[in-house]
Amino acid sequence: MDESLAKTLVHVGFRSAIIRIHTGMTRKQVTSLRKREGIVGPSESGPLPNAESLLAKKEATLEASLFMLAYLITAKSPRTTIDVEAVMAAHSQYYDCHAALRNGQLDLENVLEIDDAWVIARDYRSKEVTMRSCSTCHIEFVVSINRPKHCCPLCDGVQVRDRFHCDHADRAVSKRSVAELIELSRKVTQWANWGYSPTEIQKELGISQKEFDACTKLQGFTDPQLQGVLDKYTSGDSLVKALLKDSRSRPVHSKVL
Ligand SMILES: [Zn+2]
Ligand SMILES: [Zn+2]
Repeated sequence: MDESLAKTLVHVGFRSAIIRIHTGMTRKQVTSLRKREGIVGPSESGPLPNAESLLAKKEATLEASLFMLAYLITAKSPRTTIDVEAVMAAHSQYYDCHAALRNGQLDLENVLEIDDAWVIARDYRSKEVTMRSCSTCHIEFVVSINRPKHCCPLCDGVQVRDRFHCDHADRAVSKRSVAELIELSRKVTQWANWGYSPTEIQKELGISQKEFDACTKLQGFTDPQLQGVLDKYTSGDSLVKALLKDSRSRPVHSKVL
């Protein structure tokens, strides 16, 4: 048993069930450790909630998303384990932001408590919740996988891009703007760092294989090179075609610029 982890979890104020999962302690051991440390544990009524019920309200979804964006930066393999150290670090960062936005006050009705943050991380690991991206608001948020795809907490996803409606006569490989593709290439990098596969990323961001490949190539570009791309190309379509043109001998930026 990791005594120092157990002490930390007790002091942070996790409920007993969570402390037991991460330390292997018994309920009695947690109770006596709390006594020794002079900590009054939270009132523990009923089982732990699940993320789906925690994320029922828009306000709660926004709070949980702020937590998850912090968690995903530090968590090690968040899609296969619960990184409890990262949960604590991300939650304290999230709490500071939450209070700072409200003149030091907490919005007690909506603030995400540490146990609930842990539950979101747990259900993210078991893939019952997932990150989603809103193409209208340009934000990333966390939702239950049972929710419809377009359920952005800010806009409700009113402008749904219909990516199956395309004119087959005009063989455009992309209908997006150059700026949109550059933004998407940053998202592709971010989602890959969060542990999503190329197929999952394409599906979530609503991009084609060719757009995905083009985004991957844009990842190595510096800011001045990206500016050069913005100046040179008038459509995303011509940019994607240029990026995917075969050239093994030259670095991709020297080829398109
Ligand atoms: Zn949306
Ligand atoms: Zn939105």
